[in-house]
Amino acid sequence: MICVEQLTKRYGEHVAVDGVSFRCEPGTVTGFLGPNGAGKSTTMRMICGLTPPTSGGATIQGVPYRQLANPGRHVGVLLDASAQHAGRSGRETLALCARVLDVDRARVGELLALVGLSGPAARRRVGGYSFGMRQRLGVAQALLGDPAVLILDEPTSGLDPEGVFQMRTLLRDFADRGGTVLLSSHQLREIEAVADRIVMIAKGRVVADGTKGELLTAP
Ligand code: ADP
Ligand code: ADP
Repeated sequence: MICVEQLTKRYGEHVAVDGVSFRCEPGTVTGFLGPNGAGKSTTMRMICGLTPPTSGGATIQGVPYRQLANPGRHVGVLLDASAQHAGRSGRETLALCARVLDVDRARVGELLALVGLSGPAARRRVGGYSFGMRQRLGVAQALLGDPAVLILDEPTSGLDPEGVFQMRTLLRDFADRGGTVLLSSHQLREIEAVADRIVMIAKGRVVADGTKGELLTAP
């Protein structure tokens, strides 16, 4: 469960996020939909304790992200794939994370296969990866700690159609097993394909919040 309460972020005079509140429930994919610059990434960074809010707050499983003991075991996060070390292979990157999270190394191979990065791709340096491959690796990193909650900022950007389909299936399965997913996109069809609930944001404010049926069915 993710609980967002009146989150606000100002950069000088500019209000990037303005009193945003919503909830993400277990067993559901919540699509966070809005145009570029709407405030999606800023909201997600605040939920994950990476950007301090001007006011308001958010909890994951009832506590602020920064108070979670061993956060990678509770929440898988994909916010900025560029944080991956260019000199390591995909497999090495995951193996290091597995050590930090104290996760069985066998998960590394399983997850590489799940995100479509097994074989030669796993042995290549991340520096030579396409953006889509880095997204795949980022999602594998997010899943490594077997978290109950996933927070993914534009996870399908840079993926080919097959990759997009795999990512949708993966997120759907995760939620169908009881996981909580918050997924952002600026494309309606991305959200429509996988989300149960949709939170629409524009200019820092929530402009709609409801089930896909409520929001997308013509009256
Ligand atoms: P989205 O993820 O929906 O594209 P962002 O959360 O990245 O939107 O950005 C929301 C707004 O906040 C934009 O107008 C952006 O320019 C501004 N913004 C984001 N980060 C900063 C920052 N570090 N300093 C100043 N303005 C920022
Ligand atoms: P950057 O400094 O650009 O963030 P890192 O090499 O620190 O790159 O991180 C690459 C990935 O490896 C990260 O996802 C991080 O969680 C993991 N990682 C970083 N340092 C260690 C470490 N000492 N042991 C295990 N995993 C690490």
